Amino acid sequence: MKFKVPRGTQDILPSESWKWQRIEQMIHDVCDLYRYEEIRTPMFEQTELFQRTVGDTTDIVTKEMYTFTDRGDRSMTLRPEGTAPVVRSFVENKMFGWADQPVKLYYIEPMFRYERQQAGRYRQFVQFGTEAIGSADPAIDAEVIALALDVYKRAGLKDIKLVLNSLGDKESRMAHRNALVAHFKPAIDEFCADCQNRLEKNPLRILDCKVDRDHPLMKTAPSLTDYLNEESSAYFEKLKSLLTAAGIAYELDPNLVRGLDYYNHTAFEIMSTAEGFGAITTLCGGGRYNGLAEEIGGPPAPGIGFGMSIERLLLALEAESASLDNSDALDVYVVSLGDAAKDRAFEVLQQLRSAGVKSDMDYMDRKMKAQMKSADRLHAKWVAVIGEDEVEKNVVQLKNMAEGSQQSASVEEMIGFIQNERI
Ligand code: ATP
Ligand code: MG
Repeated sequence: MKFKVPRGTQDILPSESWKWQRIEQMIHDVCDLYRYEEIRTPMFEQTELFQRTVGDTTDIVTKEMYTFTDRGDRSMTLRPEGTAPVVRSFVENKMFGWADQPVKLYYIEPMFRYERQQAGRYRQFVQFGTEAIGSADPAIDAEVIALALDVYKRAGLKDIKLVLNSLGDKESRMAHRNALVAHFKPAIDEFCADCQNRLEKNPLRILDCKVDRDHPLMKTAPSLTDYLNEESSAYFEKLKSLLTAAGIAYELDPNLVRGLDYYNHTAFEIMSTAEGFGAITTLCGGGRYNGLAEEIGGPPAPGIGFGMSIERLLLALEAESASLDNSDALDVYVVSLGDAAKDRAFEVLQQLRSAGVKSDMDYMDRKMKAQMKSADRLHAKWVAVIGEDEVEKNVVQLKNMAEGSQQSASVEEMIGFIQNERI
């Protein structure tokens, strides 16, 4: 029997994993810069958490969740998104009582959605997300957006754009909702079964339908922007002016509604504009979720956040032919000739590593020529050759691969040379 990686998942091999490490490090650095701190929540939660928050008319809840009954007969779900678990933790750990508000958190964690596999769409993918909870200041919306853009910029992406919309507050959404029902109702028979179901339950979802996106009524649908009340408009205007002042360009898209129910006010996406990126151009999606903490039993705690998949970031880098800095070269490869030399090589290797020198040696009993080839393949900057003579004299023959020079050196001298070169 042959086993395969499950559909929609992937092994990340060393040829790719170094890129993940670079991106993850970049994310940690940018988050630190903005004073966001890492949170790690469990990989599964009670199913009801997602049903209540993400919304039971959304694609995620109706079709995409990995739900199972555990041995205690409880319904559990592999986390499909990061916001609900973080807000659950915020409430459970009474973070609303922490001295520094808003609480600014981030995570880099795998998410699970049972989706049709296609380029940029996986069943397990890693999301980097931030959540700023406890403030309803539009400046924090601007901060969160700036942070997301900074990560892309640092990674080297150029062809990206920010798309912005406001979903307004509850009152604005109700007014818009009624207009949507009136708009779609007469022709609802022409829409998919899901949309027919959404009409009464959550007509806004119709605008996010992937099946009926080309129906003529989609284009003429009442726009949320026209239904924003004064307060919601003022909030949106403030955010836009903050972004402009910070030199952040944006496009407005009144049909941007996002795939989760809990959003209000700010909704945004960052998209790739690179040619050949493929059908799915959204790199990052986020928005404001005032009311979510109350929904799961906490005190009022307005929040805003986003989620971006690392997989799509890497795809976008590829589409732009932008490359990450790959400083994977080895400092020293230790070549040994004979058993005694091999034992000595291992000793030397550990001394090098204690001194912070990245080094490796042969473990396959290969001839000198093959060992030299390995050193080449691993881009070793130095090669330390140890034979019988060197064992006796307690030295190595140290070759500088770039210069081609060679000299006899003790381990201490060798470490000195290498450290000097780094300065
Ligand atoms: P889409 O419209 O692409 O289905 P969504 O509305 O379901 O996106 P969110 O739930 O808001 O997206 O997720 C935020 C981000 O997570 C997306 O912008 C994308 O980067 C990433 N993402 C979502 N689903 C997947 C997936 N199946 N595979 C890889 N990344 C994903
Ligand atoms: Mg989706």
